[in-house]
Amino acid sequence: MPRTKSRSNTGRASRSSARAPKYVYAFANGRAEGSSAMRDLLGGKGCELAEMTKMGVPVPPGFTISTEAWAAYNAAGKKYPAGLWEQVMAHLSRLQTAAGTRLGDATRPLLVSVRSGARVSMPGMMDTVLNLGLNDQTVLGLAQRTRNERFAWDCYRRFITLFGDVVLSIDRRAFDTLLDAAKQRTGAKTDADLPADALKGLVAEFKGVVQEKVGRAFPQDPQEQLRLAINAVFDSWWARKAVDYRRIHRLPDDWGTAVTVMAMVFGNLGPTSGTGVCFSRDPSSGERRFFGEFLVNAQGEDVVAGIRTGEHLDALKTRMPAVYRKLNAIKDRLELHYRDMQDIEFTVQDGKLFILQTRSGKRTAAAAVRIAVEMSTKEKRIGRDTALLRVEPASLHQLLVKTVDPQAKYTAIASGLPATPAAAVGKVVFDPEKAVEMALRQEAVILVRPETSPEDVAGMHAAQGVLTSRGGLTSHAAVVARGWGKCCVVGAGDVVVEEENHLFRAGRAVVREGQVITLNGATGEVIVGAQPLVDPKLSDEFRELLGWAHERATTRVRANADTPADAAKAREFGAVGIGLVRTEHMFFGDERIPIVREMIMAGDVQARKKAVDKLLPFQREDFIGIFRAMAPHPVTIRLLDPPLHEFLPKYKEVLEEYTRLDARGFNPERHAELGAVKARLEALLEANPMLGHRGCRLGITFPEIYDMQVRAIMEAACEVVGEGHRVEPEIMIPLTGTVAEMKLTREMTDRVAQQVIAETGKGVHYSVGTMIEVPRAALVADRIAQYAEFFSFGTNDLTQMTFGYSRDDIGKFLPFYLEKKLLPNDPFAVLDQAGVGELVRIGIERGRKTVSGLKVGICGEHGGEPASVEFCHRVGMTYVSCSPYMVPVAWLAAAQAEIKQPRSPGGVQPKASRANMKRSHMSRTNRRTKQ
Ligand code: ADP
Ligand code: MG
Ligand code: MG
Repeated sequence: MPRTKSRSNTGRASRSSARAPKYVYAFANGRAEGSSAMRDLLGGKGCELAEMTKMGVPVPPGFTISTEAWAAYNAAGKKYPAGLWEQVMAHLSRLQTAAGTRLGDATRPLLVSVRSGARVSMPGMMDTVLNLGLNDQTVLGLAQRTRNERFAWDCYRRFITLFGDVVLSIDRRAFDTLLDAAKQRTGAKTDADLPADALKGLVAEFKGVVQEKVGRAFPQDPQEQLRLAINAVFDSWWARKAVDYRRIHRLPDDWGTAVTVMAMVFGNLGPTSGTGVCFSRDPSSGERRFFGEFLVNAQGEDVVAGIRTGEHLDALKTRMPAVYRKLNAIKDRLELHYRDMQDIEFTVQDGKLFILQTRSGKRTAAAAVRIAVEMSTKEKRIGRDTALLRVEPASLHQLLVKTVDPQAKYTAIASGLPATPAAAVGKVVFDPEKAVEMALRQEAVILVRPETSPEDVAGMHAAQGVLTSRGGLTSHAAVVARGWGKCCVVGAGDVVVEEENHLFRAGRAVVREGQVITLNGATGEVIVGAQPLVDPKLSDEFRELLGWAHERATTRVRANADTPADAAKAREFGAVGIGLVRTEHMFFGDERIPIVREMIMAGDVQARKKAVDKLLPFQREDFIGIFRAMAPHPVTIRLLDPPLHEFLPKYKEVLEEYTRLDARGFNPERHAELGAVKARLEALLEANPMLGHRGCRLGITFPEIYDMQVRAIMEAACEVVGEGHRVEPEIMIPLTGTVAEMKLTREMTDRVAQQVIAETGKGVHYSVGTMIEVPRAALVADRIAQYAEFFSFGTNDLTQMTFGYSRDDIGKFLPFYLEKKLLPNDPFAVLDQAGVGELVRIGIERGRKTVSGLKVGICGEHGGEPASVEFCHRVGMTYVSCSPYMVPVAWLAAAQAEIKQPRSPGGVQPKASRANMKRSHMSRTNRRTKQ
């Protein structure tokens, strides 16, 4: 590279960058223009490289091109904004000075890596090019200078592979096939065993591949290489896998990636070199112990991609004790500095240690909880609020997952490394796309791959568990699955995948696609067939953290529970009440369903009343059990809601049997019975049962049903009060849409309740309220509140009726809508804050206009979804209610919501809440800056 060229570039840069915004930030020799606080601008990788440089951690010099440059490049239709290239050239020349060599120098070439980095880590989703700057000339210079021919050609073949893959979009397998062939030819076990000649030969073959696939020679000009690589890294933001990852993690598309260009250091120089990844604590258990993997004579991507399984860090300790000690000290410093568990990439070049990346380590939920609690209590490094904010609420779900029953006796066919503790049972699939398809059909699948790559994330996400035959605990599969808390076993060396034959072998066992296996995530074992799974046990740290969440949250958490057993489970997980008992679930028991059917078949009021009275003792027993389990907390019981046909046999089946008997003419009794059922079903037939004769409409037209239920509730309450418990029944009317409905059902309820109280002479405090699930009810909530003592937002029906999407049919178009981004997510899983949420907000506001401090909750599926819980907190709900297993998730989400946006006592948002939010946000950023 002629010197003059880069000079003239530099000259131009200084003139035009006077006007252009600053796009490039340098780090070198203890000084840096960036810092941790500039994460959004420089990406996680870039900002921490700058921060570490300033801390005096050994980091090779380089510079980072900002996400603003990315945004400008994108806005201009993938063209560099004015001044960008000049700034890059100016920084390149500074880097050359710092490194004491130049890109393209024929005798002492500088090589660089070009790395992607978004503000949040998206492991392996975007691209990085290593060893850039090599060409047919510089490779000779490198060989000569290092007196290591093998090394130089190893770098060159790696460079062509990565550049070919990332920049020229050549399928990597084209190169890997040739590499494997070369290994076979030379009898090399690993890449590191390939001799120089073989590597030289490979480079020639690789260049041939490039010529053939893209119709041009491999670019020899290092500046052109650099420019192409920067473009490719910019564009890798839009790679399918990255887009998928963002969709799954709900990350915005407009953040973009920064690009870091930095001097290469070489782990592949020989036996005193190597590369590795380490964690300052165990990312699986959270235990405070140094943990990691090391590969001797290798470059970084080998570990990350799981191409070779690394050795334990102890190997580094024995091979290079001084390096190990230094690394150990740096990891302590970094952890102390960031006050969080760090995931660190390092490379040893000829006995000298370099740090190439640090970030908060991905961890299992168990580890997150343990680390947060220990850092707060034992180590006093972070406050409780920080500890609470450190754990992602949804991830707690992992701690509530089942594991393989320790009593189970089985023989494993293979075993690998346990990457996450969850167990999974499912059908074997090899193709990630097929995994997605089967999961959509509600089938549990286990994705089995030789190793995973970022293209596979959608399939991994859809699967119950992931099994790979290659790769270590820091391989792609392990890191990604750990982030989700998904069951994952990696590096099961005995598992030989024969994808084309749709089977895998493990020793003498052959497992075919579709066969059920169990993965024991705790041990890494692979077992044929379905093993029994058991419920989780809560750790002490987990209980401690939940205790803090209870103290901090102002929005309470209840559970939806229909049986005494569910109620007990809910309490164990910390529920302070039941937000929804669905009485109809009690109708399906073996002894009961015939009586329910008798009630529905009844021709007149008398007959119906007789059947209804038979149900009373059953309902009373259930309520007694639930009240006992939940005392002294409130229990909300919803009166009968679904359309009656749901309790009868399926019309199609009845019709079939009836027609059969009709034709044959025997069993006249059954024939008559079926005829009656058939007639009743025909009478009950509705075009839109979800909008039909259900909810309070049913209770109003068949008052004896609601009368019986209210009686059962009140008799049960009186009985349990008599035992000395505190009981607070909240009787809930479903599907109210008009004030008149509320007024009438309230009067009906009061009449029966008062009767029971008079009969038993027990003082029971009860209340009557309604579900708000018809949009109209939210709009007339001020008037409904004249008769309702509480509201509970039934956001399943409310979502259904607000969007006009049938919950049972949404599967036909939802996947398409999600893919095309017509919807950000499934509105039945994540509350639609803009539409449905607005109705909720209006309903609360209007209801509280009539009764200030009106008790308000939510009982839809959304009650356990963290973003929705935060919303419920913001609009001033008294409580959220969710399934028992989600209760801890909701508590943590509610506590975080309170920390982020404090609420004054009494549940109504203070006027100053926005100012508060700003302040707490600021103090958080300040804290981060100071670290
Ligand atoms: P990812 O985000 O996929 O981890 P990275 O940009 O971190 O991508 O790079 C991939 C691998 O290459 C990592 O192991 C990293 O340590 C290594 N690497 C990146 N830059 C350099 C460099 N300048 N010298 C040596 N190894 C590098
Ligand atoms: Mg990395
Ligand atoms: Mg409903």
